Amino acid sequence: MRVIRSIRMKNTCMNVTMKKLIYCLVLSSSFLTYSCHSQTTHKASNSTMEYNKLTPEEAYVILNKGTDRPFTGDYYKLKANGIYICRQCNAPLYNSKDKFDSECGWPSFDDEIKGAVTRVTDADGRRTEIICNNCKGHLGHVFLGEGFTSKQTRHCVNTSSLKFIADDTSTKLPEVIIKK
Ligand SMILES: [Zn+2]
Repeated sequence: MRVIRSIRMKNTCMNVTMKKLIYCLVLSSSFLTYSCHSQTTHKASNSTMEYNKLTPEEAYVILNKGTDRPFTGDYYKLKANGIYICRQCNAPLYNSKDKFDSECGWPSFDDEIKGAVTRVTDADGRRTEIICNNCKGHLGHVFLGEGFTSKQTRHCVNTSSLKFIADDTSTKLPEVIIKK
């Protein structure tokens, strides 16, 4: 009887140990599944990042290469210190120190933030269009040799393509939206 009881005890111990082992395996495998799943979810949310929502007026300018009516918009006379970012993707485009009053009716800058603006020949084959280097949204046109400033450059930019972030506010620059 003693021998049988001892064998039974051993069996019970084995069973408990096996159960513990299986429990640990199940736990760790579900943890792994969870980790993999959460990583996949994180990646997915990055790749589906959308640009800022545009009003119909902004979409007309940025996506359809339209033009704001002259002497309208919030920025053509603005002199505050800060940074002008892309309305669609938040990429910093212009510094207020490069803005000047050309009296042409649109915000004017004689320089851009390095690498932020791309120049392409306009569909009219005559003018030079400027687009955001990140999202390719339409900004306006660039004109050279007009004598406004020593840089001889005028970026004529639509207010609808820009968003101004003032230096003297606690507003942080929003994260640039990059689509892959
Ligand atoms: Zn942009």
